Amino acid sequence: MLRAEGLRLSFRDAEGRGFPVLDIATLTAEAGALTVVTGPSGSGKSTLLHALCGLQPVDAGAIRWQDTDIAPLSEGARDRWRRQTVGLVFQEFHLIDELSPLDNILVPAWFSRFRAGEMRHRAAELMRAYAVPTQRRRVADLSRGERQRVALARALLFDPPVILADEPTASLDRDAGAAVIEGLCALARDRGRLVLAVSHDPGLIAAADVVLRLDHGRLTPVEGIA
Ligand code: ADP
Ligand code: MG
Repeated sequence: MLRAEGLRLSFRDAEGRGFPVLDIATLTAEAGALTVVTGPSGSGKSTLLHALCGLQPVDAGAIRWQDTDIAPLSEGARDRWRRQTVGLVFQEFHLIDELSPLDNILVPAWFSRFRAGEMRHRAAELMRAYAVPTQRRRVADLSRGERQRVALARALLFDPPVILADEPTASLDRDAGAAVIEGLCALARDRGRLVLAVSHDPGLIAAADVVLRLDHGRLTPVEGIA
């Protein structure tokens, strides 16, 4: 369902010199599976996730989701495609501290044609499914694990076929991390979603159907994992 080929991306350093961040010959991922891209800090994992959903333009390459190559699309067309297709869980969540969990989960609906009542119903369902506290007024008062679950629920508001998650278990305690891993596995295996996470959490890697390793922006084979 995802096939990226010949991906290249460079950033500029403080002196304005370009340095390569991604150089990926082929990357594929399937619906119904949890794919985890692992690799050390600075290897390009977050950049890769943002590139795959078109938030970060690439210098070269094709990013095919089903039959759509999003790389050559205009920014507006990519944004529309992303809203319809991808639930993205950012490394730093990007929640709005002053809003309640419910209102944070409803933020994507601000920009959509969906009916408010339907969306509130769906948000309430997600809050139950992911054990998001309902009584807190501001997400600023939530624990990191709770904030992560709000971010996941927000990503799922439109029931997207693709879920991309950046270090979804980072700095969660064991129980909170296990709950997130279980949620991602269920989305892939029970709901048939394409779930792609980047992470160096051994627990998430162990739960993955496919593990890819990113090193200095290149994918390398993973040994010892079937
Ligand atoms: P990871 O998520 O694996 O830790 P990142 O994708 O965040 O790695 O970063 C990969 C490399 O690109 C790092 O060297 C980082 O400093 C650099 N980088 C990330 N974003 C930018 C940016 N917007 N401008 C310049 N360099 C960046
Ligand atoms: Mg990162």
